This record gives sequence, structure tokens and C-alpha cells, in this order.
Amino acid sequence: MSSFKEGEYVLIVHNDRKFLRKLIPKQSLNVKKEVLKFDEVIGKPEGVRIGSFEVYRPTLEDLILLGFERKTQIIYPKDAFYIAFKLGLNGEKRVLEFGTGSGALCAVFSQIAGEVWSYEAVEEFYKTAKKNLERFGIKGNVKLFNEDFGKAEIPQNYFDAVFVDVREPYPYLEKVHQSLKDGGSVGFLLPTANQVIKLLESINGLFGNIEVLEILQRYYKRVPERFRPEDQMVGHTAYLVFGRKLTSL
Ligand code: SAM
Repeated sequence: MSSFKEGEYVLIVHNDRKFLRKLIPKQSLNVKKEVLKFDEVIGKPEGVRIGSFEVYRPTLEDLILLGFERKTQIIYPKDAFYIAFKLGLNGEKRVLEFGTGSGALCAVFSQIAGEVWSYEAVEEFYKTAKKNLERFGIKGNVKLFNEDFGKAEIPQNYFDAVFVDVREPYPYLEKVHQSLKDGGSVGFLLPTANQVIKLLESINGLFGNIEVLEILQRYYKRVPERFRPEDQMVGHTAYLVFGRKLTSL
């Protein structure tokens, strides 16, 4: 890998804390009276240690968690990366999602799918997502639309997968079904059990092979002599519902 260049974003780790910063000459990061001068980082290889600081190139997870501006609740990487693979995405697949929100799931899809169409009804959120994707150079294969999915003209039998992250997905199920190729994959993210129950009641006949799950992620303290889980964890983010398009003959 090449050495760090002026103007690029880097992940800086200082004990238990992480920072995403742009390497601008003469600027620095101060943590607990320790100073990391960015001039000392520019030109150094990835993984360099300077005092108590470690510097790396950020992963997509780092960019989303530390760099994305959030105007809406985002889909966290623990869910987003699973969703992308569960929908069967690869470089040849077309995926549609709504709503875009802050663009976190969109960014993950853009790394894995061939083509991403993403609809956001609210202009402010659309602009935030666009800015987030552009800031980190994630946009080549993404088409962002500032449009309500319910009113948008969507090609039929066109998408390999559709993902729905809106509070009320029920009115859109027919349209999602029509937009999918035969056997295409569908996924939904829903924060409450009530929403899941209502979705299951509405989904009949349109989608099969239904699965409902949630992903719990527990971090561990990294001390070999006292290895054990962290005291606190995120107890719940959302339920995930997956299915496949049923074709009636
Ligand atoms: N998945 C996004 C992420 O990871 O950043 C977060 C999505 S956010 C929870 C839900 C978004 O759906 C909101 O920004 C909302 O404005 C948008 N929305 C709700 N109904 C919509 C519709 N019918 N068409 C397009 N966007 C819609």
C-alpha cells in the first residue's frame, strides 16, 4: 500500500478511542494532552504508530460510523453487511432501496452490487446522503432519487433485490413485487415487533421463503488476563425480514 497522502481521510486510534480525520498540513489531533501532528503522518506507511496514536486507512465501517453525517437513524454495519449478502448481491446484481435516509446502507450496497437505485422522499435527507457518498468517493454505481417511492416510475421485473427501510412498508408491497425479477430477493428493516407482525399479515401470496431475525453483537474486553464481554452492549437495533418473490402462474 502507498504511504499516506495530504488530503486523504485516515482512521486514528488512541487507546479505546477512534477518530476519522482529513490529513491537512499544519493541523493536528489533541487527545488527553497528547498531540498528533498531521505533517508527521503524511508520507508515512499505513499502520504507523506515533506516540500512543495508530494511523490506518479507514474501512467502509469506519467511514459510516465516524464520518457519515446522520440526519436519520442509520442501518448499522452489523445489519447492513448481513443484509447485502442475504439479498444475494454481487457485482452483477441490481438493487433498489427506499428510503435512502443518510445513505449508510446505500454505501454498503454500492461496494457489493453492480447497480444501486435509492429513493428518498425528503429533500434534506436526500442532500445529506448525496454529500456523505460524495465526500468519501462512494457513488459510481449509485443512482440517488429525491422522490417518494410510491409515486416514482419504477421499471418492472428489473431488480434482483429490493430493500425497504421505511416506517410503513405495507402500501408498497405490490409495487416492490412488480419491480423484482422472478424469484428476486426482498428485505425489510423494522424497529418494532408490531411492525413485523403487520408486515407478516400483509406479505402473504407476494413473497415466500420468509425469514425473520435480529442480529445481536457483543464486544469483548481485549485484556488477555481478564477476557470477558464489555459491560454494555446495544440491546436492539431492528428486526430484519427477508423473502423471495413468488410468481403466480
Ligand atoms: N437506510 C437508511 C440508512 O442506512 O441511512 C436509513 C433510512 S431512514 C430510517 C428512513 C427514510 O425513509 C427516511 O429518510 C424517510 O424520509 C424515507 N422515506 C419514508 N417513506 C418513503 C417513501 N415512500 N419513499 C422514499 N423515502 C421514504
